[in-house]
Amino acid sequence: MSKAIEFKIIEAESTFLHPRKGFEQEKVRFEVRKDPLTGRTGHYSHFGAIKPQRLDLEHYNKPETKGFCPFCLDKRDKATPKFTADIYAEGRPFQGEATLIPNLFPYDIYSGVLIMADDHVVPLEQLNAKRLYDAFSLGINFLKKIKGLGPSIPYHLMTWNYMPPSGGGLVHPHQQYFATEYPGNQFIDELTASEQFHQRHGKDYWSSLVEGERATGQRYVGSIGASHWLIPFVCLGILGDIMCVFPDVYSVEDLKEQDIQDLVAGLCKVFEYYRTGGIMSFNASLLFGTEGQRYFPCHLRISPRTFLNMRDFAPDLNFFQAILGEPVCVAMPEDLCKDVKKFF
Ligand SMILES: [Zn+2]
Repeated sequence: MSKAIEFKIIEAESTFLHPRKGFEQEKVRFEVRKDPLTGRTGHYSHFGAIKPQRLDLEHYNKPETKGFCPFCLDKRDKATPKFTADIYAEGRPFQGEATLIPNLFPYDIYSGVLIMADDHVVPLEQLNAKRLYDAFSLGINFLKKIKGLGPSIPYHLMTWNYMPPSGGGLVHPHQQYFATEYPGNQFIDELTASEQFHQRHGKDYWSSLVEGERATGQRYVGSIGASHWLIPFVCLGILGDIMCVFPDVYSVEDLKEQDIQDLVAGLCKVFEYYRTGGIMSFNASLLFGTEGQRYFPCHLRISPRTFLNMRDFAPDLNFFQAILGEPVCVAMPEDLCKDVKKFF
């Protein structure tokens, strides 16, 4: 591993008398890791204590649960907005089942919602390569278009909440595509640290990371075309994240047709892993920096979500994430890597 990248682990244990072991003295290990790029910490504890909960997808289709869904075909035409003619003359562009509409609750000046399918409930096995390809293709083209329309807006993002545990307000599968100057604290921290790394070491952090992780293999899942798939040293989600880096793609303009196909091929493998592991919900983001820079390449992060239980639907985020801004993860990245690698 390049010496410029430091993987710092602070390990410790807590001792107590265990009620389920006759009050014998027990030591329980936990660790804190420092993200080698941003220096932000993450806790690893509760190992194996949280399992993804099974969602009853049939239930979401029942009329009494479904309620009003503006993305369903019988409502879509009347209930969803259209783009103004200067953006899309046709109002709502589509590719296959993928349909792009403006966000009724915009995140920024140019803010689109991509409806991914005609069906209201689409389980992971039906988020197939064709549906994914059409969605990403249409969405990325929108990002390229708005980059031209608003060249002073520097950053471009795809974000995605899939199924209710992820915080998604509608079960009907959809993604958000938008350009913004304010892409969130995690994005800005990564971007700033990437620029500093580049200035300090004369090379790009992300290429160095991919190269180093590939050499040790501990957290490197595999490559598809120009994309590299790995497990972050500090995961943001409670069940661990998977990341995909395109080292030669810096702004959205650089993302080629083949890259979209590679991204989709990788996601299909991730979804196969999710299905096997009972994961039914996730958050994901695909981030693009500004044109001209050579230190912040495009990367995707996907993070499983679950209710803690189906009795009272406790969410998997608590004071740690909500107040302290600290991720907690119950899976070690190196173990997760071994599991995910089987699908690549
Ligand atoms: Zn629907």
